[in-house]
Amino acid sequence: MPSTQDLSQVEIRRSRKRVRTVSAWREGERTIVAVPARFTRAQENEWVERMLARLEAQERRRKPSDVELAARAQDLSTRYLGGRATPTTVRWATNQGRRWGSCTPSDGTIRISDRVRGMPRWVLDYVVLHELTHLLHAGHGPEFWAELESYPRTARARGFLEGYAYGADRPEGRPGGEGLDDLTGEGPQAASADRTDDRVDDEFSETLFGDG
Ligand SMILES: [Zn+2]
Repeated sequence: MPSTQDLSQVEIRRSRKRVRTVSAWREGERTIVAVPARFTRAQENEWVERMLARLEAQERRRKPSDVELAARAQDLSTRYLGGRATPTTVRWATNQGRRWGSCTPSDGTIRISDRVRGMPRWVLDYVVLHELTHLLHAGHGPEFWAELESYPRTARARGFLEGYAYGADRPEGRPGGEGLDDLTGEGPQAASADRTDDRVDDEFSETLFGDG
């Protein structure tokens, strides 16, 4: 099966420590395939092809299209919100900054950050469900959270996102707690140009500070 991969972006790493395992992963734009040093060129080619196909299949499963995302949202609304949340559009967005998503209740549009694409399905489901719930409750009050209690992985997903945000801050050499001010929702990104007055911009900062 021909791969759609750009092979110039594939780096083969031969390892003497590797005996019978082949691994592949993404590092930014590049794809790394680690193979045992004893592999022949033919074996290498065969396994690179195989691992790239496997990676792509995994990513397809984890990265639904806009159409699939909208269908997913409808399904989630039916299952957990009694079908009461009916968005006009649900789309992936690249301009969400540190937000996981945003919702504009006045026109029923929902945007989900590209950063969530590729996260486990149950995390994506939570983010979509969170934004759907804003169609019913604009703020993060008790009635908002009460709606989300029916989704069994709410607490776990919030923990996942909190850990992800924490980890994302670490490589910049900042001590763990120092980045927290950026997540209060009052940071510069809150004034971004495309923000409309009634939009709910979600960084899910409540996961760091609680509801109080
Ligand atoms: Zn929210």
